[in-house]
Amino acid sequence: MDEYQGRRDRLSALIAEQKLSEQKLEAMLVSGAANVRYLTGFTGSNGILLAFPDGAVFFTDPRYTLQAGREVSCAIRIVKGPLYPAAAGLARKKRIGRLGIERDNIRYDQYETLGQQVKLEPVSSIVEGLRAVKSPGEIEKIRRSVLTNSKAFEQGVRAIKPGMRESDLAAEIEYRMRRLGAEKAAFETIVAAGERAALPHARPGDARIENGNLVLIDMGATQGGYTSDMTRMVHLGPAPKKTRDTYRFVLEAQLAAIDAVRPGVTCARVDRAARDVLKAAGLDRAFVHSTGHGLGLEIHENPRLGKDSKTRLEAGMAITIEPGVYLDGWGGIRIEDTVVVTAAGCEVLTPTPKELREV
Ligand code: ZN
Ligand code: ZN
Repeated sequence: MDEYQGRRDRLSALIAEQKLSEQKLEAMLVSGAANVRYLTGFTGSNGILLAFPDGAVFFTDPRYTLQAGREVSCAIRIVKGPLYPAAAGLARKKRIGRLGIERDNIRYDQYETLGQQVKLEPVSSIVEGLRAVKSPGEIEKIRRSVLTNSKAFEQGVRAIKPGMRESDLAAEIEYRMRRLGAEKAAFETIVAAGERAALPHARPGDARIENGNLVLIDMGATQGGYTSDMTRMVHLGPAPKKTRDTYRFVLEAQLAAIDAVRPGVTCARVDRAARDVLKAAGLDRAFVHSTGHGLGLEIHENPRLGKDSKTRLEAGMAITIEPGVYLDGWGGIRIEDTVVVTAAGCEVLTPTPKELREV
């Protein structure tokens, strides 16, 4: 049995359980691209999966006939025209009383089309919940993506020259990733120099990287479908005391959070470990985002490591740990690794050293 069949069986079991609960789902339409890929292996852009308690049917269009035949191991229907009416038609033929749909992964017009033929029950985080805990094979893919990302970072750092634009460094990094085997960048690479690093999600632009700048580089690769995520800081020339001190606090916060990662611990507890260190340094109000997020087929997945997240970590979850501080008019510092929860605690996959890099 292939791994995708195993995943579909787990979904079918969930639907069978749901059938008995108050939601009374009798089938579920999976429409999110990453969810469809997770359940079928299909890497094309147009495919949906109708899952029943005892099987599943994959729908795609004629452009993907050959590809679906190679990638997808369940029943396949090639549909000329829109896929949703065809899926709804099959659900009706099978006398499905209540069809679960992914409320986060459907357009309103598709919702209307389905609703004309079958009674709908919006659900969320069903397949996403299955995806949160990775198989050993998935962890190996994430590890490969992380290694590519770190190699691309090293090559990118070597290309840094005073006077270069932020966008040139971002382009260099993304080019390196692809040369090293990534399909693409997992998200738009962030390069923010000096004061601009006070924006946690700065977009690289025409601004130039100058001597004396502290530069934030947040980058991730997608390789074999799986993502990686890392943030490192580079200083052009020797860093002043305030930079070194602030860096040390952020690093302490990051290490404290990593130390807190183990199965059974809530995500909020990990977030607090980082926040407590920054609070002791008087920097907690400058930490304006959560401590991390799950990653896998997508760059942001479950669980979220925020203040209020009661989700408990489980062995096999892949997450980031990325506290940061952002000071208007000064700049920002973030340190981020990709980490896997293990039975004993966690393994930091990111091999890139964490001391402040002076170039
Ligand atoms: Zn990142
Ligand atoms: Zn991240």
